[in-house]
Amino acid sequence: MRRKLIAGNWKMNGSLVANQDLIGAVGAGLPVAHCAVALCVPSPYLAQAQALLAGSGIDVGAQDLSCHESGAFTGEISAAMLREFGVRYAIVGHSERRQFHRESDAEVAQKAQRALAAGITPIVCIGETLAEREAGQTEAVVKRQLAAVIHTNGHCISEIVLAYEPVWAIGTGKTASPQQAQQVHAVLRSQLAAASEHADRIGILYGGSMNAVNAANLLGQPDIDGGLIGGASLKAADFLAIISAAA
Ligand code: PEP
Repeated sequence: MRRKLIAGNWKMNGSLVANQDLIGAVGAGLPVAHCAVALCVPSPYLAQAQALLAGSGIDVGAQDLSCHESGAFTGEISAAMLREFGVRYAIVGHSERRQFHRESDAEVAQKAQRALAAGITPIVCIGETLAEREAGQTEAVVKRQLAAVIHTNGHCISEIVLAYEPVWAIGTGKTASPQQAQQVHAVLRSQLAAASEHADRIGILYGGSMNAVNAANLLGQPDIDGGLIGGASLKAADFLAIISAAA
Protein backbone atom coordinates (compact mmCIF):
# COMPACT_ATOMS: atom_id res chain seq x y z
CA MET A 1 0.00 0.00 0.00
CA ARG A 2 1.24 3.49 -0.88
CA ARG A 3 2.01 5.73 2.09
CA LYS A 4 0.45 9.14 1.66
CA LEU A 5 2.75 12.15 1.29
CA ILE A 6 1.87 15.71 2.20
CA ALA A 7 4.45 18.12 0.79
CA GLY A 8 4.38 21.83 1.47
CA ASN A 9 5.59 24.19 -1.26
CA TRP A 10 6.50 27.46 0.41
CA LYS A 11 7.26 29.06 -2.97
CA MET A 12 9.14 32.40 -2.54
CA ASN A 13 7.95 33.02 1.01
CA GLY A 14 9.61 33.00 4.39
CA SER A 15 12.35 34.58 6.47
CA LEU A 16 14.75 33.12 9.03
CA VAL A 17 12.46 34.20 11.87
CA ALA A 18 9.17 33.20 10.22
CA ASN A 19 10.57 29.81 9.16
CA GLN A 20 11.65 29.02 12.69
CA ASP A 21 8.15 29.75 14.00
CA LEU A 22 6.41 27.79 11.23
CA ILE A 23 8.66 24.73 11.44
CA GLY A 24 8.42 24.78 15.22
CA ALA A 25 4.62 24.88 15.13
CA VAL A 26 4.33 22.14 12.49
CA GLY A 27 6.78 19.90 14.36
CA ALA A 28 5.00 20.45 17.66
CA GLY A 29 1.56 19.67 16.24
CA LEU A 30 2.43 16.65 14.12
CA PRO A 31 -0.06 13.81 14.77
CA VAL A 32 1.51 10.67 16.25
CA ALA A 33 0.57 8.35 13.36
CA HIS A 34 1.26 10.67 10.51
CA CYS A 35 1.81 10.24 6.81
CA ALA A 36 5.08 11.17 5.11
CA VAL A 37 5.55 14.94 5.33
CA ALA A 38 7.98 17.23 3.52
CA LEU A 39 8.62 20.95 3.37
CA CYS A 40 9.95 22.33 0.07
CA VAL A 41 11.64 25.53 1.11
CA PRO A 42 13.45 28.28 -0.85
CA SER A 43 17.09 27.28 -1.43
CA PRO A 44 18.69 29.86 0.92
CA TYR A 45 16.77 28.26 3.78
CA LEU A 46 17.80 24.65 3.13
CA ALA A 47 20.49 24.66 5.83
CA GLN A 48 18.08 26.17 8.33
CA ALA A 49 15.35 23.66 7.43
CA GLN A 50 17.83 20.77 7.58
CA ALA A 51 18.88 21.79 11.10
CA LEU A 52 15.38 22.50 12.40
CA LEU A 53 13.81 19.38 10.89
CA ALA A 54 16.51 16.94 12.05
CA GLY A 55 14.84 14.12 13.96
CA SER A 56 11.34 15.52 13.37
CA GLY A 57 10.20 12.91 10.85
CA ILE A 58 9.62 15.71 8.33
CA ASP A 59 11.77 15.66 5.20
CA VAL A 60 13.45 18.62 3.54
CA GLY A 61 12.51 19.38 -0.05
CA ALA A 62 13.69 21.81 -2.72
CA GLN A 63 11.50 23.63 -5.23
CA ASP A 64 13.61 23.12 -8.34
CA LEU A 65 17.05 21.98 -9.51
CA SER A 66 19.24 22.33 -12.56
CA CYS A 67 18.95 19.98 -15.52
CA HIS A 68 22.77 20.20 -15.74
CA GLU A 69 25.21 18.29 -13.59
CA SER A 70 27.66 21.14 -12.87
CA GLY A 71 29.60 23.92 -14.59
CA ALA A 72 29.03 27.35 -16.10
CA PHE A 73 25.34 27.78 -15.32
CA THR A 74 25.19 30.95 -13.22
CA GLY A 75 22.38 30.94 -10.70
CA GLU A 76 21.58 27.27 -11.08
CA ILE A 77 21.62 24.76 -8.22
CA SER A 78 22.62 21.16 -8.88
CA ALA A 79 21.04 18.01 -7.53
CA ALA A 80 24.34 17.08 -5.84
CA MET A 81 24.38 20.42 -4.00
CA LEU A 82 20.84 19.86 -2.76
CA ARG A 83 21.77 16.41 -1.58
CA GLU A 84 24.50 17.92 0.61
CA PHE A 85 21.73 19.70 2.53
CA GLY A 86 19.83 16.48 3.17
CA VAL A 87 17.23 17.18 0.51
CA ARG A 88 14.96 14.15 0.02
CA TYR A 89 12.49 15.59 -2.50
CA ALA A 90 12.70 18.21 -5.24
CA ILE A 91 9.73 19.66 -7.08
CA VAL A 92 10.34 19.72 -10.83
CA GLY A 93 8.14 21.16 -13.55
CA HIS A 94 5.93 23.25 -11.32
CA SER A 95 3.53 25.19 -13.55
CA GLU A 96 5.03 28.48 -12.34
CA ARG A 97 8.36 27.35 -13.78
CA ARG A 98 6.81 26.00 -16.97
CA GLN A 99 4.91 29.28 -17.40
CA PHE A 100 7.34 31.98 -16.19
CA HIS A 101 10.64 30.25 -17.02
CA ARG A 102 9.52 28.52 -20.19
CA GLU A 103 10.54 25.06 -19.00
CA SER A 104 9.76 22.43 -21.61
CA ASP A 105 8.56 18.86 -21.06
CA ALA A 106 12.03 17.64 -22.07
CA GLU A 107 13.79 19.92 -19.57
CA VAL A 108 11.47 18.84 -16.77
CA ALA A 109 12.18 15.20 -17.65
CA GLN A 110 15.93 15.89 -17.49
CA LYS A 111 15.54 17.54 -14.11
CA ALA A 112 13.75 14.45 -12.84
CA GLN A 113 16.65 12.36 -14.15
CA ARG A 114 19.24 14.57 -12.38
CA ALA A 115 17.32 14.30 -9.14
CA LEU A 116 17.07 10.51 -9.32
CA ALA A 117 20.77 10.18 -10.14
CA ALA A 118 21.58 12.15 -6.96
CA GLY A 119 19.26 10.07 -4.78
CA ILE A 120 16.56 12.75 -4.59
CA THR A 121 12.93 11.89 -5.29
CA PRO A 122 11.55 14.29 -7.90
CA ILE A 123 7.99 15.48 -7.37
CA VAL A 124 7.10 15.89 -11.04
CA CYS A 125 4.29 18.39 -11.59
CA ILE A 126 1.95 18.16 -14.54
CA GLY A 127 -1.40 19.78 -15.24
CA GLU A 128 -3.56 21.55 -17.77
CA THR A 129 -4.46 25.23 -18.04
CA LEU A 130 -8.06 26.42 -17.92
CA ALA A 131 -8.06 26.97 -21.69
CA GLU A 132 -6.81 23.42 -22.24
CA ARG A 133 -9.48 21.99 -19.93
CA GLU A 134 -12.21 23.97 -21.64
CA ALA A 135 -10.97 22.75 -25.01
CA GLY A 136 -11.28 19.14 -23.79
CA GLN A 137 -7.52 18.64 -23.87
CA THR A 138 -6.87 17.74 -20.22
CA GLU A 139 -6.01 14.08 -20.84
CA ALA A 140 -3.87 14.79 -23.89
CA VAL A 141 -1.88 17.48 -22.07
CA VAL A 142 -1.13 15.53 -18.90
CA LYS A 143 -0.33 12.38 -20.90
CA ARG A 144 2.11 14.33 -23.09
CA GLN A 145 3.81 15.85 -20.04
CA LEU A 146 4.10 12.46 -18.32
CA ALA A 147 5.24 10.70 -21.51
CA ALA A 148 8.32 12.94 -21.66
CA VAL A 149 9.29 11.95 -18.12
CA ILE A 150 8.72 8.26 -18.85
CA HIS A 151 10.72 8.49 -22.08
CA THR A 152 13.76 10.03 -20.37
CA ASN A 153 13.68 8.02 -17.16
CA GLY A 154 12.78 4.52 -18.38
CA HIS A 155 12.45 1.93 -15.65
CA CYS A 156 13.48 4.53 -13.00
CA ILE A 157 9.99 6.01 -13.42
CA SER A 158 8.83 3.90 -10.48
CA GLU A 159 11.05 6.06 -8.21
CA ILE A 160 9.31 9.36 -8.91
CA VAL A 161 6.39 11.04 -7.19
CA LEU A 162 3.91 12.57 -9.61
CA ALA A 163 1.78 15.61 -8.78
CA TYR A 164 -1.33 16.41 -10.79
CA GLU A 165 -1.78 20.15 -10.44
CA PRO A 166 -4.43 21.70 -12.68
CA VAL A 167 -2.98 25.14 -13.38
CA TRP A 168 -6.39 26.78 -12.95
CA ALA A 169 -6.56 25.51 -9.37
CA ILE A 170 -3.14 26.70 -8.17
CA GLY A 171 -3.34 29.63 -5.80
CA THR A 172 -6.82 30.51 -7.09
CA GLY A 173 -9.01 28.99 -4.39
CA LYS A 174 -10.67 26.89 -7.14
CA THR A 175 -10.14 23.22 -6.39
CA ALA A 176 -10.73 20.32 -8.74
CA SER A 177 -13.62 18.29 -7.37
CA PRO A 178 -12.56 14.93 -5.92
CA GLN A 179 -14.19 13.27 -8.96
CA GLN A 180 -12.39 15.51 -11.46
CA ALA A 181 -9.07 14.88 -9.76
CA GLN A 182 -9.63 11.12 -9.41
CA GLN A 183 -10.55 10.86 -13.09
CA VAL A 184 -7.19 12.37 -14.14
CA HIS A 185 -5.26 10.39 -11.51
CA ALA A 186 -6.76 7.14 -12.87
CA VAL A 187 -5.64 8.07 -16.39
CA LEU A 188 -2.14 8.78 -15.10
CA ARG A 189 -2.08 5.54 -13.11
CA SER A 190 -2.84 3.50 -16.25
CA GLN A 191 -0.21 5.38 -18.26
CA LEU A 192 2.32 4.56 -15.53
CA ALA A 193 1.17 0.93 -15.45
CA ALA A 194 1.86 0.61 -19.16
CA ALA A 195 5.38 1.94 -18.57
CA SER A 196 6.41 0.12 -15.40
CA GLU A 197 5.51 -3.10 -13.66
CA HIS A 198 6.04 -1.21 -10.38
CA ALA A 199 3.56 1.57 -11.18
CA ASP A 200 1.42 0.72 -8.19
CA ARG A 201 4.14 2.03 -5.88
CA ILE A 202 4.24 5.49 -7.53
CA GLY A 203 2.54 8.15 -5.43
CA ILE A 204 0.32 10.56 -7.36
CA LEU A 205 -0.31 13.75 -5.37
CA TYR A 206 -3.04 16.29 -6.04
CA GLY A 207 -2.15 19.98 -5.86
CA GLY A 208 -4.28 23.06 -6.35
CA SER A 209 -5.90 24.97 -3.49
CA MET A 210 -6.02 21.92 -1.22
CA ASN A 211 -6.95 23.15 2.24
CA ALA A 212 -8.11 22.05 5.67
CA VAL A 213 -11.72 21.82 4.48
CA ASN A 214 -11.43 19.97 1.16
CA ALA A 215 -8.43 17.73 1.97
CA ALA A 216 -10.30 14.74 3.39
CA ASN A 217 -12.54 14.32 0.33
CA LEU A 218 -9.68 14.66 -2.11
CA LEU A 219 -7.41 12.36 -0.13
CA GLY A 220 -10.21 9.78 0.13
CA GLN A 221 -10.04 9.05 -3.61
CA PRO A 222 -8.41 5.72 -4.51
CA ASP A 223 -5.69 7.18 -6.75
CA ILE A 224 -4.90 10.33 -4.75
CA ASP A 225 -1.87 9.51 -2.66
CA GLY A 226 -1.28 12.84 -1.00
CA GLY A 227 -1.08 16.53 -1.65
CA LEU A 228 1.29 19.23 -2.83
CA ILE A 229 0.24 22.21 -0.77
CA GLY A 230 1.08 25.83 -1.55
CA GLY A 231 -0.76 28.55 0.36
CA ALA A 232 -2.06 26.30 3.13
CA SER A 233 1.47 25.11 3.95
CA LEU A 234 2.34 28.59 5.19
CA LYS A 235 -0.13 28.33 8.08
CA ALA A 236 0.77 25.65 10.62
CA ALA A 237 -2.83 24.96 11.67
CA ASP A 238 -4.02 24.49 8.07
CA PHE A 239 -1.05 22.35 7.09
CA LEU A 240 -1.49 20.18 10.19
CA ALA A 241 -5.19 19.73 9.44
CA ILE A 242 -4.29 18.43 5.96
CA ILE A 243 -1.72 16.05 7.47
CA SER A 244 -4.37 14.79 9.90
CA ALA A 245 -6.79 14.24 7.01
CA ALA A 246 -4.14 12.10 5.29
CA ALA A 247 -2.89 10.21 8.34
C1 PEP B 1 1.40 24.69 -5.52
O1 PEP B 1 2.02 25.74 -5.57
O2 PEP B 1 1.94 23.63 -5.86
C2 PEP B 1 0.01 24.73 -5.04
C3 PEP B 1 -0.70 23.64 -5.12
O3 PEP B 1 -0.41 25.93 -4.55
P1 PEP B 1 -1.82 26.20 -3.80
O4 PEP B 1 -2.01 25.09 -2.79
O5 PEP B 1 -1.64 27.53 -3.15
O6 PEP B 1 -2.88 26.18 -4.85
